[in-house]
Amino acid sequence: MGTARSTVRTMTTKQSDNILPLHTKDTSTASLRIKNRDVFRILFISMILFGLLMGLAFPPLVKLHFNDTRPTSLSFTLMCISAGITVGIANYILFSIFISKELRYLVEGMNRVNEYISAALFSKHIHTGTFEIEVKSSDMIGQVTMAFNTMGRTVEQRLLNETRFRNLISDLSANVALDKTAEIILKYFIEATCMTSGLLYGKIENEMTLLSSKGFDTDDKLPRKLESWQGPINDAIKSGEPYTLDTEANHINWISTTTPYGSIRPKLIRIIPLIAEKSTVGLIIAACGHSREPESIELETLKTYSSYMAPYLQNSLLHNKIQEMASYDFLTHVLNRRFGLIRLHEEFSTALRHRSDLSVVMIDIDKFKNINDTHGHDAGDQVLKTVTSTLSLHLRNEEIICRYGGEEFLVILPMTNLNKAGLVAERLRDLVEQQTFYYKDKVILVTISLGVSSLSSLVTQNENDLINTADTALYHTKKMGRNQVSIFRNNEAVLLPRNKPTRV
Ligand code: GH3
Ligand code: MG
Ligand code: MG
Repeated sequence: MGTARSTVRTMTTKQSDNILPLHTKDTSTASLRIKNRDVFRILFISMILFGLLMGLAFPPLVKLHFNDTRPTSLSFTLMCISAGITVGIANYILFSIFISKELRYLVEGMNRVNEYISAALFSKHIHTGTFEIEVKSSDMIGQVTMAFNTMGRTVEQRLLNETRFRNLISDLSANVALDKTAEIILKYFIEATCMTSGLLYGKIENEMTLLSSKGFDTDDKLPRKLESWQGPINDAIKSGEPYTLDTEANHINWISTTTPYGSIRPKLIRIIPLIAEKSTVGLIIAACGHSREPESIELETLKTYSSYMAPYLQNSLLHNKIQEMASYDFLTHVLNRRFGLIRLHEEFSTALRHRSDLSVVMIDIDKFKNINDTHGHDAGDQVLKTVTSTLSLHLRNEEIICRYGGEEFLVILPMTNLNKAGLVAERLRDLVEQQTFYYKDKVILVTISLGVSSLSSLVTQNENDLINTADTALYHTKKMGRNQVSIFRNNEAVLLPRNKPTRV
């Protein structure tokens, strides 16, 4: 009977395969099972039948035991049958009470987990550990719970991966700036591969340049460029395949990662090339701070992640290149006027926000037209380049220089007051004056005039006024004989004394 019924059931399911959509098929199969097999009903009938059987068997057995030849009274037989049935019913009730309670707990747990899974399908965060039910016993129900939990963990892992990919793509799509893209790529890569630290290099001007680092406590020792680093890294770049490297055997001592237990030197590092359009656009060097590498890191996972990330890195590198081309002056390689003014705007806003000072210096090369006229335009270009590199070299990282016009430069000095800015300007003037410029073995005398203005010595809160007043100071310098510094103070330009006697 059972076989026949199950055959019919199989056939029904198979037939419905072709016709019903997936969810309908699942529901119908499940309800079919519920209709045909109710374990509790079978148990109830079996218990009553068993009680009836006991009630019928008990009187002859009692008589046999006591060698009683008298006929069995009907009332005794009925009593035994009722007792048997009562025990059967009691058994069923007790079983239902205890087993049902456990099963209800399991079903409720499964439903709850199912709700979590549905909610997690499109959520940005997965709360790990919510896809499990507490195992309360070691019996069959406990084993079912454990099997369900194993399945829950697999689903959780899948959802974690899927969510990570979705978040990765959405974060990468929302950002095109190179530093942000590099940070996102490294963060996701380290998270997904359970590594503890990583470096991301990107190909800029044919050199693998450090774009982002995470988890290393030897930041100052990290190589900014990988161009001279031969061996395994080049192998990984050439082959396009991930590479595992023994740090001790290869004498790599610049990698040391921070862990909750202090700083350790990882034994193995992974080198993963990022390939887009068949060329290596970047490279991730990932290290694991644990004593043992996590088992979950599979080569395929690394490859999948890197293949998703590479086109975004390529895009950002390209964007960065275009931005650089647009923001830098072609001849002198410092910021052009447009981007210089953008930087001034940013620094001006920061200064207002933090109530800090900000100074600007306007610089103009003296009698530059004469240089062009005397030595030629090419010589003029060389002078422009040399003056710019001299000025840039003596400015700090946070100080900004831009080519404001033909032979005019604007220097932005954040968090600098008028007095200090005057000193900086005088130092720059002196440097140019002391430098000897050569063009085709001919010495060219070059001097600059400067005008300084500071936010704190102005009544206005407009960045244009900062430039205009620095320009007024510069005009004053020109008027007073050039090769000097003027500062704009108390609404007028004042010439500063030179530090050293001027050369003749
Ligand atoms: P002053 O001391 O008053 O500033 O005199 P100056 O000769 O420097 O000023 P002027 O404005 O008369 O001349 C500036 C010259 O700079 C004119 C222009 O041909 C030249 N110039 C502007 N841009 C470039 C450039 O990119 N290369 C070269 N070689 N010359 C340039
Ligand atoms: Mg000029
Ligand atoms: Mg000039």
